[in-house]
Amino acid sequence: MPEQKTLIMKFGGTSVGSAEALVSAIQIIRDAKKDWDRVVVVTSAMSGVTNLLLDSAASASHGKVDSLPAAESALREKHFAAADALIKNEKLREQTKAEINALILSLVDLCKAIAVLGEASPRAMDAVASLGERMSVYLLGAVVNDAGIKAKAIVSTEFVVTNAHYQNAHPDFKATTEKTRGLLNPLMDEGIIPITTGFIGATPEGAITTLGRGGSDYSAAIIGAVLPADDVWIWTDVDGVMTTDPRIVPEAVTLPEINYSEIAELAYYGAKVLHPKTIRPVLDAGIGLRICNTFNPSHPGTRLIAGVKSNGKVEGKVIKAVTAIRKQRLITIEGRGMLGVPGVAARAFGAVASTGTSVPLITQASSEQSICFAVPSELAPTVLSSLEKAFAAEIEDDDIDRVWATEDVSIITVVGAGMRHTPGVSGRVFSKLGNDGVNVLAIAQGSSEVSISLVVDAVDTENAVKALHELIVAS
Ligand code: ADP
Ligand code: ASP
Ligand code: MG
Repeated sequence: MPEQKTLIMKFGGTSVGSAEALVSAIQIIRDAKKDWDRVVVVTSAMSGVTNLLLDSAASASHGKVDSLPAAESALREKHFAAADALIKNEKLREQTKAEINALILSLVDLCKAIAVLGEASPRAMDAVASLGERMSVYLLGAVVNDAGIKAKAIVSTEFVVTNAHYQNAHPDFKATTEKTRGLLNPLMDEGIIPITTGFIGATPEGAITTLGRGGSDYSAAIIGAVLPADDVWIWTDVDGVMTTDPRIVPEAVTLPEINYSEIAELAYYGAKVLHPKTIRPVLDAGIGLRICNTFNPSHPGTRLIAGVKSNGKVEGKVIKAVTAIRKQRLITIEGRGMLGVPGVAARAFGAVASTGTSVPLITQASSEQSICFAVPSELAPTVLSSLEKAFAAEIEDDDIDRVWATEDVSIITVVGAGMRHTPGVSGRVFSKLGNDGVNVLAIAQGSSEVSISLVVDAVDTENAVKALHELIVAS
């Protein structure tokens, strides 16, 4: 038997967010079926749904359930409008709406339980967050079937096995491989397209988990890696990975090709177009990755490439893209008594790690009189108190003068594999920002030399991104 070619296609929230979007998605699935022996579809929740669900649970945890009826009707309206517009078969339509309605009712039950308890555990938050993908998978499964394409909706809790780290669960690849193959292969053998949920999994005991916000991309990569598939295509609402977020700079253009280290830095430093965890599984499994636009399907989008040519040269411009992560705070530990004291950094990061916070950027002045790092703004108070506790003795003895946090800042990152071999890039970056009146608060260069990150005041975010994007255009 000739080798079977397998494609995983993931549709993001906007790509399944309305009847019009679903019409494009259906056509994309139909076309893929012509070119590929096997196709698996992974869907996000309809756009806005996960936020609405999580907001409802957060209000409930403060005892507030008065906004629930509005949330219920918004969810019904959004899903039913698409079902009514696209599912011609009455029985299938009514059945689909009943399945979605049951999930909406379970949101109400969960939120009422949360309100009674006065708190939402991470596990309860995942149960709530999972409802979005569970609704959209029934909808997408039904509209694709109604369009005459053989497909079956399956919730990924049945085969994506994770640990119990709710809200940021880690897959058990071994168990997931076995279950995914066991469930999906027989369907694909019969020419049926499995349509499954992104974002969610379950513990071996069956408790629902999520892979973290934006995690449907990661789901597609996990499923691709374990089957294994030949290609994973991420269908989103822009023409692939661009030189920057087109919402900040409308002139941003698509990067036809990007290498793994570049996309890893971009995704990690805030380019929402791809979840950073997506890259590792596809890289390890040697799978192709493409990012493309549901609303412009003939555009080739962005392809991931190995990156370095046999002559060691890197393709493309030196600076390829610029990205921003907002809502960060810089925390500084400073004091003359720190000079030469071993272990300060280790203890500082130990104290940060004990709060479960990850640190996207670290800088240390060569004088060793201060350590400075970024954390997400909402975690800054917890991190500060953990540090104050850890260094109570040094603060008491005046070896450490203070531990403090800035107001909100943004981390701006320029990315390009060619920077490693090109002197003077940071000089250009800083003079451009200086000329454009952007004050740089801190700097860090990625150890891979594929990126330079700098920290600016929140108000300077857009100006910094625009200024550095001009450098790409000019180069
Ligand atoms: P989806 O719902 O399809 O997963 P996301 O909203 O998560 O879509 O990601 C797509 C968005 O990422 C785009 O609409 C765009 O605003 C944003 N984005 C940020 N940086 C970039 C970039 N460098 N290239 C393309 N899009 C980017
Ligand atoms: N629906 C989830 C979220 O909004 C996962 C995703 O869209 O990737 O975070
Ligand atoms: Mg996304």
